[in-house]
Amino acid sequence: MMGKEFCRCSNPFSRNDIFCGKDAGGQISMGAGIKMGITNENIGKALRKIERRLPKNIVMASSKADSPFRILVATVLSARTKDETTHAAVNRLFSKMKTKTPGIQARVLARMDEKAIRKLIYPVGFYKTKARHIKRLAGIVAEEYNGKIPDTLEQLTKLPGVGRKTANLVLSQAFGKDAICVDTHVHRITNRWGYVKTKTPEETEMALRKKLPRRYWQAINGILVKFGRAVCRPARPLCPACPINNACPYGINNRKHFKH
Ligand code: SF4
Repeated sequence: MMGKEFCRCSNPFSRNDIFCGKDAGGQISMGAGIKMGITNENIGKALRKIERRLPKNIVMASSKADSPFRILVATVLSARTKDETTHAAVNRLFSKMKTKTPGIQARVLARMDEKAIRKLIYPVGFYKTKARHIKRLAGIVAEEYNGKIPDTLEQLTKLPGVGRKTANLVLSQAFGKDAICVDTHVHRITNRWGYVKTKTPEETEMALRKKLPRRYWQAINGILVKFGRAVCRPARPLCPACPINNACPYGINNRKHFKH
């Protein structure tokens, strides 16, 4: 087993103070402490290992510290858009509201000119449609819910632009409820692990609801979204840098191709 020295190779992940996966002799680390395969016995350990190694500077579209209204708007805007772009757009939009009270923010947003909203949120993907959705959504929240964000899946998914993924993120991030938000990262990574075998994020959500211990429901999205952006990327995942590459079937199968 190798010593934990930080590599000075060309792997960009190693420059983020993350162990790059090779020891001083250039051998690939297979990590320690996790047995082959991701199962219910070791998924908690795997998630903790991943979380410990994540770069601290990853920008997310929203955080638990934000108000439920801001989380809802940010999540609607984040679809098919980089989190950095969404974060900047949300900052521009909310800076125009001149109030921090969510109920009043909903009224202000509902009254804003749709073209002005478009300008503020550009260049998020589908900004014209999203501008229409968040204006209508703000009107419904202001009028029907007296400025409070509804806190059930049924109510949330009736709002314009809000699907299960958005609703689940709002439930877990804004209200601390047990909900699993499955986006493309969670879907891809849990399938690479062989933890689920599904074809769509919706199927993955249902499979995880049956299998994943409830104590990880809220955390899994935040951890795997960052992990999916930094390491377990859609194309060319950085398996040599991965702290659980000794357990992941995808990483083990592709070990012969590891190089950086
Ligand atoms: S595919 Fe590679 S980066 Fe992703 S979890 Fe498996 S070993 Fe890690």
